[in-house]
Amino acid sequence: MRPDSPVSGPTRADALALDAVDPLTGFRERFTLPKDVLYLDGNSLGALPAHTPERLRRMVEEEWGQGLIRSWNEAGWYDLPRGLGNRLAPLVGAAPDQVVVCDSTSVNLFKVLSAALRLRPGRGTVVSELGSFPTDLYMTEGLAPARRLLIGRDGDALEDLLGEDTAVVLLSHVDYRTGRLQDMAAVTARVQAAGALMVWDLCHSVGALPVELDACGADFAVGCGYKYLNGGPGAPAFLYAATRHLTDARQPLSGWFGHAAPFAMSPDYRPADGVGRFLTGTPPLLSLAGLDASLDVWEDVDLASVRAKSLSLTSFFLRLTDALGLETVTPRAEAERGSQISLRHESAYAVVQALIARGVIGDFREPDIMRFGFTPLYVSHTDVWDAAEALRQVLDTREWADARFAARASVT
Ligand SMILES: *Cc1c(COP(=O)(O)O)cnc(C)c1O
Repeated sequence: MRPDSPVSGPTRADALALDAVDPLTGFRERFTLPKDVLYLDGNSLGALPAHTPERLRRMVEEEWGQGLIRSWNEAGWYDLPRGLGNRLAPLVGAAPDQVVVCDSTSVNLFKVLSAALRLRPGRGTVVSELGSFPTDLYMTEGLAPARRLLIGRDGDALEDLLGEDTAVVLLSHVDYRTGRLQDMAAVTARVQAAGALMVWDLCHSVGALPVELDACGADFAVGCGYKYLNGGPGAPAFLYAATRHLTDARQPLSGWFGHAAPFAMSPDYRPADGVGRFLTGTPPLLSLAGLDASLDVWEDVDLASVRAKSLSLTSFFLRLTDALGLETVTPRAEAERGSQISLRHESAYAVVQALIARGVIGDFREPDIMRFGFTPLYVSHTDVWDAAEALRQVLDTREWADARFAARASVT
């Protein structure tokens, strides 16, 4: 690496100085990462916590292998979806007994959107956003009787679409493509003033910044276990329902795990008291074990420090990419920024592939976005500087133009 390029941006020495005063540096060793990789994709799949393999081994060899079916009671399997919900609750600003860990974000979206629609009889419209992560749009499409309106289509803003028929508004707290952060308190208040319920998708904010669902008065929320939370590939998602809705809310995937007394084996469904009514079927215990292990790390984390470091990392990267003359689509105002920087480039896919070939892992999002996620627990300012330097070289040398970087893989 050249010691002080890019020319007009901050230097590697600046990065080292910032790392020297980073209160989170100790967390890096709690993750296992390959030596030759700079990982800027923890917003898509979080890294492996160092003690997760031991937790998985225990689940497989001891709880399953030796405990067999006894582990449902003796190893606490049965209570795990609620128990992990309570461990996760502080990360989303929720008092206990409003969060469960279960299913995927997509499935949980279906449950909370359906429940919210039923809580607003006489209203039939769901408002979401054209630029949303596609599964959020697809799941609202699957809510058969609901009318769907999209912010951003025909230039409409939220205010233009909120009306007497609006039952629910679904928004991402941080936009997966641009990294824009919404003002959760203000938007929730606006939606509720129009008589609708507010559902937040926290996939790109949980574990990246403090989230205050209770304080903002959110109605429902969902989020991912495998991104910033580091629960492992395909880790179960979570679902939040505010206490005030827990008596009346009914969700349509009324499986036996959400029943008040599953082992009564009654022919009729009766929802469990509390947030457990949002469960559906038998949970994937092996995957829950991965999330269980990752939540051990979060117990020791101060979210204000995570946010401060996240902004420091993204700001540092922005200064470097500004020096390279690259166009950013992520808001420059810190209050409107999540924990990623998205850059526009006409050959974005090939540039990202060329970076990956150098061990600098970011990702590509349609149509022309290079996306770099900054996970404060295991990414340093020096990593950021080295990644920007690799980007500079890939662009300067047109390394990305090599034919082998043009072919699309099935996961981008
Ligand atoms: C990652 C992500 C999802 C993923 O949904 P799955 O059901 O886990 O595949 C949903 N919504 C948003 C905004 C995401 O970023």
